[in-house]
Amino acid sequence: MNASRRYSIAVIPGDGIGKEVMPEGVRVLEAAARRFGFALDLQWHDFASCDYYLKHGEMMPQDWKARIGKVDALFFGAVGWPDTVPDHVSLWGSLLQFRREYDQYVNLRPVRLMPGVPCPLAGRKPGDIDFWVVRENTEGEYSAVGGHMFPGTEREIVMQETVMTRFGVDRVLRYAFDLASKRERGHLTSATKSNGIAITMPFWDQRVEAIAAEFPGVTHDKYHIDILTAQFVLNPQRFDVVVASNLFGDILSDLGPACTGTIGVAPSGNINPDGTHPSLFEPVHGSAPDIAGKGIANPVGQIWSAAMMLEHLGEAEAAAAIMAAIEAVLSTPAGRTGDLGGSANTRDCGKAIAESI
Ligand code: ATP
Ligand code: MG
Repeated sequence: MNASRRYSIAVIPGDGIGKEVMPEGVRVLEAAARRFGFALDLQWHDFASCDYYLKHGEMMPQDWKARIGKVDALFFGAVGWPDTVPDHVSLWGSLLQFRREYDQYVNLRPVRLMPGVPCPLAGRKPGDIDFWVVRENTEGEYSAVGGHMFPGTEREIVMQETVMTRFGVDRVLRYAFDLASKRERGHLTSATKSNGIAITMPFWDQRVEAIAAEFPGVTHDKYHIDILTAQFVLNPQRFDVVVASNLFGDILSDLGPACTGTIGVAPSGNINPDGTHPSLFEPVHGSAPDIAGKGIANPVGQIWSAAMMLEHLGEAEAAAAIMAAIEAVLSTPAGRTGDLGGSANTRDCGKAIAESI
């Protein structure tokens, strides 16, 4: 929370259903601002979209950082329109630029079973599954360090290195332990594979022990990634905060939300915990070209992302109110969109949540 309780936010709808769910996210943000007495300064941008690319030949203007200016957060929809721009171009030209330039070294996703969302795991009720996946977002397995020799010959060799730095590992672990320390259960699980990956993963384990010493109130354990994925499906109730390297976190942060139902409701944060740069909040889903333009997309992922953003900005009460409103609306069949078996369209669902606040 800043002293003035005025938040400047870059609003970037992007492509496809991003343009349909974003107005609902903003509608709910504005309802929360009215109810809880803070002010929003919203700046909408049309870049970081394939439409922008088709007009200008690039996903974002060269001076995008100056155009965004000093903001408290970025609120993002979805990017990608593979019929016109290849995914690697649209992704590298937009979201990944934000992640890198704003040093958003944590990717945070909740795994939480909500009312009205059918759970693919048998016998689970809302409340049974409620944890966070914290993914390292800047280094690790996703490095460009490696080589390709003798391509196309019998002697062909390819290599790609995992790069872990103590700085990079420690800061994401500290974030995860800190998050666990604020939760009721106060438990952290580390994803590893130190029985097979003999150099980097033992280092990761060792840093987990070192950082754990700074958080005596948090209990912790570790699982090898193979068993951990099985446990996500078999025993998701045992987790509280799960921290993982870039690759393992990428996998877990898709598996987690999949274990709790539809992609349409899951949110995420790309976070710069130091506050030296703004963080970015966006739904987990993509631009969904198959349903774009029909007004039927589920806006809950976008709206839940708004709650995460407000929590990050220090408006915890408003964030909790949004979560309660989402739960109330999802509990009634009339409030749900088609992907959840309901008949509401994008706007009905967004309006119902805003009104509930
Ligand atoms: P990404 O752009 O992240 O690679 P993707 O192309 O793999 O994503 P999405 O665009 O998320 O996937 O779409 C996957 C499927 O989920 C599609 O069938 C889409 O219609 C559906 N879907 C995604 N988001 C929503 C939503 N908000 N409401 C309803 N259905 C959705
Ligand atoms: Mg896609």
